[in-house]
Amino acid sequence: MSTDYTDRPSRRSPDARPDFLVSFEFFPPKTDVMEERFWESIHKLSPLHPRFVSVTYGAGGSTRERTLRMVSRIKSETGVDAAAHLTCVGATREEVDAVVQGYKDAGITRIVALRGDPPEGVGKPFTPHPDGYKDAADLVAGIRRIGDFDISVAAYPERHPQSPSWDAEIDNLKRKLDAGATRAITQMYFDNDDYFRLVDRAQAAGVSAPIVPGIQPIHSFKQISGFAARCGASIPGWVADRFDGLDEDPETHALVASAVAAEQVLELVDQGITEFHFFTLNRSNLVLALARLLGYRPD
Ligand code: FAD
Repeated sequence: MSTDYTDRPSRRSPDARPDFLVSFEFFPPKTDVMEERFWESIHKLSPLHPRFVSVTYGAGGSTRERTLRMVSRIKSETGVDAAAHLTCVGATREEVDAVVQGYKDAGITRIVALRGDPPEGVGKPFTPHPDGYKDAADLVAGIRRIGDFDISVAAYPERHPQSPSWDAEIDNLKRKLDAGATRAITQMYFDNDDYFRLVDRAQAAGVSAPIVPGIQPIHSFKQISGFAARCGASIPGWVADRFDGLDEDPETHALVASAVAAEQVLELVDQGITEFHFFTLNRSNLVLALARLLGYRPD
């Protein structure tokens, strides 16, 4: 009996050019050893030609120099478009504008614009700097005044921890896009139903910009559950069960991590999603494997 595979999605075809757009998020390394791993991962992932690679920004500007240095070097060394994150918490408009101008002068054309968290943590009330941008929508408008950047903003499949209601959440997202952002990238989440509900709500409110799922591969269940708790993302019981008892078994942990992330990504593909943002934590292996499932091959 012969089977006709021709109608299968292109992700299953080894010859297909990727129909997908991917971006990879990194954080600026603090030490020489971390910097070595950072560049190793950049050099493994850049031959996939992602839409862009982004580098995070420490709230309050703590990584200002490093973010700029990494983003500039990624662009010049690999040719891949690089996006610099930027937050406005704890800074005056003048200070933030100077960073934006610095990005512009360095030839950076993409910014991921964020409000940032108060130093006390994400759940604590946010008080804007008296001379600062009051939220991310205000920041987007400020960036737009300085240059014609491609701007991404944050979206939250489980709502931002400070959001009083879904209506306020969607209204806030819409304000950021209306102020001049091109797309939203979601916070990490592990249940695709949360993502689809967010997209439905946003579209019902008139949002037409892409809302790109932010995929966090679980390199270390312990570490990622800590991050998730801090940013208000929940880990479904069935995900926790899969990692249960694997703390001392890195090989099985890695295989389960890859299966869990693949399941999440391929379910999104089956629902017609074509853009993905991967949180790499400066590691390449799991993300390389996921990109391969989407049809990406290095040059
Ligand atoms: P905003 O969109 O301004 O607001 C967040 C929430 O506050 C809203 O959902 C809304 O409920 C409420 N809110 C805002 N304005 C108002 C208003 N006027 N009235 C009522 N309610 C309001 N943080 C970093 O420090 N550095 C990074 O590099 C970084 N990168 C990130 C990348 C991605 C993809 C994501 C998803 C998050 C990132 N963050 C980063 C985290 C981000 O800074 C925090 O989640 C922060 O708490 C909110 O930022 P925001 O841009 O979503 O803020």
